[in-house]
Amino acid sequence: ARKRDGKNGMLVFDASMLDTARERHEMEQNIEAGLKEDWFEAYLQPIVSLADGRIAGFEALMRLNHPEKGILPPAKIIGIAEETGTIARIGERVLEKAIGHLARLTRLEGTETTYLAVNFSPLQFEETLPHKLAALLLKHHISPARIVIEITEAVLMLDNPDVHAVLKQLSEFGCRIALDDFGTGYSSLSYLNRFPVDIVKVDQSFTRSLTTGTADIRRKSRMLIKGIRTISHQMGCTVVAEGIETKEQWELLRKLGLDFGQGYLFSRPMPIENMLLMLEMESEAKATHLA
Ligand code: C2E
Ligand code: MG
Ligand code: MG
Ligand code: MG
Repeated sequence: ARKRDGKNGMLVFDASMLDTARERHEMEQNIEAGLKEDWFEAYLQPIVSLADGRIAGFEALMRLNHPEKGILPPAKIIGIAEETGTIARIGERVLEKAIGHLARLTRLEGTETTYLAVNFSPLQFEETLPHKLAALLLKHHISPARIVIEITEAVLMLDNPDVHAVLKQLSEFGCRIALDDFGTGYSSLSYLNRFPVDIVKVDQSFTRSLTTGTADIRRKSRMLIKGIRTISHQMGCTVVAEGIETKEQWELLRKLGLDFGQGYLFSRPMPIENMLLMLEMESEAKATHLA
């Protein structure tokens, strides 16, 4: 954004704009370095069955692990990476890591059928994607049925026949498609009928509004979620709630008939090593309990 100087109409930049430009340039450099030095990581967050809290799958969430600046979250990366076009390369890297992680997790007992959900930017749906994904799955002996492709309606709104063809191919290959952040966009409902959607992920703002605000807001939130759940189930989709932070929210969402959930209550997103440790400790605790 440029600012116009009142007096003579000249374009002037102020300090905050310079800061923004500098920050942006710095982030572009972080991204390039991250690709070159292999700093991109796929953190994992469990997705649990709301009925019994058992882990059904994991969502892979991108992090840039910068040796000096620490962990940079996707909010700082994705917008810029989409503009500069590096998002496709980043996405590929994260996908590769995440599938490697799923293979490692699978060696633990009880995780053989867990699924992996990966977020995809609209710009990642290139013609070569199905082939690349297939090669990765083959390499790690993982069935396509264990992969969930998470998209937002931004992907569908593109209305690009090539993108739709890739989605259809992935779906026919056996992967499932999840519609992320459902309920926040424009015409979400029509997408359920026009695209091969298998999973609806109810945006975390709905979860939050279940337990905050006035009694009236909370009541209406329950009705909205119930409506989304009913329509989704009728369309043959399973429903995942995002952003569950309290037991009260878990209990409400379970009663509202949602199938799965994820959130800080169950676990924060974490590196694969921590996830392996956590799962090993849990299964040991169970073993001692049973003995
Ligand atoms: P998303 O796919 O909707 O992912 C859920 C976000 O909510 C994640 O933020 C997660 O850390 C956060 N979250 C999980 N549980 C809770 C909770 O209980 N409370 C709260 N307040 N937040 C919770 P994160 O990791 O910062 O990712 C933000 C967004 O960035 C994602 O939203 C997704 O749209 C995008 N993203 C993440 N990884 C990738 C990727 O590999 N590729 C692409 N294209 N986008 C990605
Ligand atoms: Mg997601
Ligand atoms: Mg989401
Ligand atoms: Mg989100």
